[in-house]
Amino acid sequence: MTKITVAKGDGIGPEIMDATLEIILAAGAKIEIEEIEVGEKVYLAGNSNGIASESWDTIRRNKIFLKAPITTPQGGGYKSLNVTTRKFLGLYSNVRPCKSLHPFVSTKHPVMDIVIVRENEEDLYAGIEHQQTDEVVQCLKLISRPGCEKIVRYAFEYAKQQNRKKVTCFTKDNIMKQTDGLFHQVFDEIASEYPEIENEHWIIDIGAAKMADTPELFDVIVMPNLYGDVLSDVAAQITGSVGLAGSANIGEECSMFEAIHGSAPRRAGQNLANPSGLLQGAIMMLNHIGQTEVAEKVQNAWLKTLEDGIHTYDIFKEGTSKIKVGTKEFATAVIANLGHKPTLLKAVSYANNEALILPKYKRKPAAKKELVGIDIFVHWNGTKPDELAEKIKKIETETIKLTMITNRGIKVWPNGFDETFCTDHWRCRFKPNEDSEINKTNIIGLLQKAFDQNVDTIKTENLYSFDGKAGYSLGQGQ
Ligand code: NAD
Repeated sequence: MTKITVAKGDGIGPEIMDATLEIILAAGAKIEIEEIEVGEKVYLAGNSNGIASESWDTIRRNKIFLKAPITTPQGGGYKSLNVTTRKFLGLYSNVRPCKSLHPFVSTKHPVMDIVIVRENEEDLYAGIEHQQTDEVVQCLKLISRPGCEKIVRYAFEYAKQQNRKKVTCFTKDNIMKQTDGLFHQVFDEIASEYPEIENEHWIIDIGAAKMADTPELFDVIVMPNLYGDVLSDVAAQITGSVGLAGSANIGEECSMFEAIHGSAPRRAGQNLANPSGLLQGAIMMLNHIGQTEVAEKVQNAWLKTLEDGIHTYDIFKEGTSKIKVGTKEFATAVIANLGHKPTLLKAVSYANNEALILPKYKRKPAAKKELVGIDIFVHWNGTKPDELAEKIKKIETETIKLTMITNRGIKVWPNGFDETFCTDHWRCRFKPNEDSEINKTNIIGLLQKAFDQNVDTIKTENLYSFDGKAGYSLGQGQ
C-alpha cells in the first residue's frame, strides 16, 4: 500500500480525478489517498501560492502527489502553484510522452511516438525579473551544470529503460552561447557515456519545425525549461488532443503526476471532460511506485476503449468514433475493459518500468576563476553613443579603460552604426590594460567615480575567466 496525496483541483479537475481514481482502484492499485485542497478557493482565501502550509506537510510526508488541474485566478499577485511545487520539491524532470493513436484518434501524424523530457526548475522560470530603466525590463536566464547534468542523464536513462533508440537535444546555442551552450555541452558529455543510444542536437527553431512536420524523426527529446514547456504542448496537440497527455514531474525525493491540460472551466460540471490526460499521469505514477502490473492493465484497457471507438467529445469524430460518452461513462468503459488488450494498437508491457534511480550530482573541482573586467549598466536618456562614451570615459583609471558600449547587446561604441536603435539601457564594458589587472577594490573605485560623475548605474556584472576561458559573451558585432 502506498500513501499518496491527491488534489482534485478546479474546473473539470474533480470529475476527471474521480474517474481516474475509480479506474485505477478497480484495476487493483494499492494506494491510500490523503486529499488536500489546492487552487482557486485557496488563492481566493488569501493564500497567494494556492496552497496552505499544512498541505505542504502532507505532500512532503507522502512524497507522491497526484494533482488535477487548477485555475489560477486572473490578475496580479497569484503565483503559479505548478511552478512553485516543482521548484520547492526539486522536481527537476518533466516527462511527457506524446503518442499517436492512429487510426482511432484523428491525427495528421499517424506514426508519432515522442517523449519530451523537459528541464523543470531553472532557465527563465527562475522568474527573476527587474525593471531597470524607463524602457527596459529584464528576466534572468539561469542554467546550471547540476540542472543540465540531471536532466540530460535522466533523458538517457529513460531512453535506456524504455528501449528507445535516440535522444535529441534542442537548444539555441548559436545565440545563447553561455546558457544554452552549457546545456549542449553537457548533452555531448553525457551522450558519450551511452554509445548504444543515438544522439543528435538541433537548433530549436528548425528542430521544432521538423518536430511539428515530421515527428516520426524523433524519439526522446531533451530541452531546457521554456522550450520544453512550449513544445510539449505542440507535441501533445499534434497527436490529436492535449486532453490525452499526462506528465510526470520527478525529483530525487518527491514526484508529482498530472494531466498536461488546464482546468477547462467552461466544460466543468457537465460530465463532458476527457479524463485520459490525468489517467496517463496516474499510470506513470503507478509505474513510479512499482505497481507496474496495475499500470499495464489500466493502459491496455484504456487503449482498448479508444480502439472500441468509445470517445469523449474532444476526440469524437463521425466515421472513426462509435459512441460519444461523458467522463463517467468513459471510466465505466475502461473498467469493463480491464484485463483486455487492444487488437490493432500495440499493447504495452511495463515489466521494467519502475522509478529510475540516478546517481546524485557530484560537484566538480572548482576552476581557476579570475576577474578580468566589469560591465557597468547605465540608465541614460541620450541617443548618441559617442556622447555617452565621453561621459563614461571620465570614470576610467590609469589602467582600467572603457572598451565597448552595447545597447540591447549590440555594440554601439566604438564604431557603431547610426542606424542602430538605442534604448535608455546601456552596457559599458571596462577592461584593464594588457599588462594590468583588475580587482574588486578597483570596481568599487569605478562605481564611486561613476556616482561622482552623476552616472546612473543600475547594475554591474563581473567578467570572469574560468581556467583561462572567457565566461561572458562578446558584444554582438564586436
Ligand atoms: P485548458 O487546458 O484548461 O483548456 C483549453 C481547452 O482545451 C478547453 O476549453 C477545452 O476545450 C479543451 N480541454 C482541455 N482539457 C480537456 C479535457 N480533459 N477534456 C476535454 N477538453 C479539454 O487551458 P486554458 O483554458 O488556457 O486554462 C484554463 C485554466 O487552467 C486557467 O486558469 C489556467 O491557469 C489553468 N491551467 C492549469 C494547469 C494545471 O493546473 N496544470 C495547466 C494549464 C492551465
